[in-house]
Formats: sequence, C-alpha cells, structure tokens
Amino acid sequence: MREIIIISGKGGTGKTSFTGAFAHLAADKIICDLDVDAPDLHLLLQPVRERQEEFHSGHEAAIDPEKCTSCGLCASLCQFGAIRENGAGLAVDPRRCEGCKVCVAFCPAAAIRFPEKHCGQWYVSSTRFGPLVHAQLFPGAENSGRLVMLLKQQAKELAKARGASLVLGDGAPGIGCPVISSLSGAHLAVAVTEPTPSGRHDLERVADLTRHFQVSLAVIINKYDLNQDETYHIEAFCRDRDYPVVAHLPHDPLVTRAMVQGLVVTEMPETDFSRDLRRAWTRIAALAGLGQ
Ligand code: SF4
Ligand code: SF4
Repeated sequence: MREIIIISGKGGTGKTSFTGAFAHLAADKIICDLDVDAPDLHLLLQPVRERQEEFHSGHEAAIDPEKCTSCGLCASLCQFGAIRENGAGLAVDPRRCEGCKVCVAFCPAAAIRFPEKHCGQWYVSSTRFGPLVHAQLFPGAENSGRLVMLLKQQAKELAKARGASLVLGDGAPGIGCPVISSLSGAHLAVAVTEPTPSGRHDLERVADLTRHFQVSLAVIINKYDLNQDETYHIEAFCRDRDYPVVAHLPHDPLVTRAMVQGLVVTEMPETDFSRDLRRAWTRIAALAGLGQ
C-alpha cells in the first residue's frame, strides 16, 4: 500500500481542488482529509457519514457543585485564570483550562473531576470516489497532530481491510504539527505552489520539511502563467533539489466553475487543463510506485 499526501506551504493554492481530482482519477484508494483544523474536501466530495467517533485528547477540570464548599482555593491556585464565578458558583472555563491538574490535587473537598477533553469528531464516510476518512477539530481545540495520526491509522486499516492500494491524503497547509504528522510514513508528498515570492518561500519551507523527514517530493506549479519570472525561480529551485515538476497548470476559471457545481475539475468536460491534471496524476502515481 502506498501513501501520497498533497500539501502546500499556504492555503488557497488549489491543493484541495487537485486532491479531489486525484481522488476521482485514482483507483482502489482510501481518501483522507488531514486538514483537521479547516477541512474542506467534504465540500467537493459530499460524503455520507457511515461512522462517527469522538476525538478526546488531554484532560480538563470540572467542578462538582454538589461537593464544592466555595473555599476559593482552586481559583487562587489556577495560573491560567480558568476558574471563575459564573453566578451559580465557581466553574471552570474549558477554553482556558490547560489541564495541569493543580486544582484537582489541592481541592480539600475532592470536588474537581478531571475527565478527558472532547476535542472533536472523526468520521468514515462514503463518497462517489470511494471511502473518505475525515474529522473536525472543535474551534480552539489542540492536538491536531494527534488527530491527524489517528486519521492516517484509520485510513490505513480501512485500506488493508478493503484491499486498497493507496491512501490519498489532503494535508493541512503550512509546516505545523498537522503537516508533520501528515508526512509521517508517506511515500510521496506533492506540493502545490503558485508563482509568487511568498509561494516560492512557502514551497522552500515545505521542501525542507519533507527533506528532514526523508519523504520524496514532487511539485505542481499552479497558475504558472501569472508570473513567468517566479515560475522560472521555482523551476530552478526544483532542478537544484531534484524535485520533479509534475505539472505546470495555467490559471483557468474551470477550477472555480467546477467548485461552484460541487464537482472536481476532472468531472467537467475535458479541456487542456484537465488533460494536464490527468497527466500529472499519471506521473505522481508512477513516482509513488503505484502499480509496481
Ligand atoms: S478548591 Fe474545591 S471546594 Fe474549594 S472552591 Fe475549588 S472546587 Fe470548590
Ligand atoms: S487543571 Fe490547571 S488549568 Fe485547568 S482549571 Fe485546574 S488549575 Fe486551572
């Protein structure tokens, strides 16, 4: 089984649109949306949920009003200002609680519980292109890297159970914790970039990350025709580092038109753009060793 992750140094490069198209083109795959902070692959794939699970990570304090004597000790000990009067007594603000457990340890009335923190939901769904493993982290919830690892593990188990040869992941933008988790164990990362100075800078950062984690990298230059000079700089960078550029895609309103219709680009009537994208997928599959 191979694992391909589509990444980008920043959001808005076309990463998810192309992941959707590759999900359409790839055979025998499990699709995985690893952008757990702001998932949007579901908007293109319109999944039907078949399984739903809670994601817990860390712990948070919770005061039992039946046991609390209102001595105020916990509020004075909490370094994060998470325990406050709420009109009915002292209560923990879950957005501020860092789970340090100090209040639990010192409460003289043993009135503070310390349950696991419910940080989000994860799902296994069916889509018109095959199974999708995805999730939604609650706003402000932490540990997105752990959730990404969980999704990857679920996707791999599903792939094994169904005899799928590929896990195709839509990685989070940037170079943070969820991206690092996305790359772990991947056979190929495909970075989608745009020809702007910030696009080039972001590509260099994700390239350093893939190099650090020894994951092979291929590059798609999207909207290459908008700035030929920057495209040239990106090509030179890729040549220096030996990264194959698997597609130069022009700016094309087809991408937006497809999105508005809830379709991926390769489901639209064929154009040069969609032909280039199909060729890119053939090259990506070969680079990842699919079918070998
Ligand atoms: S330390 Fe315990 S008893 Fe005192 S206010 Fe806090 S929860 Fe209530
Ligand atoms: S667990 Fe720590 S951060 Fe949370 S309320 Fe208690 S003392 Fe404050």
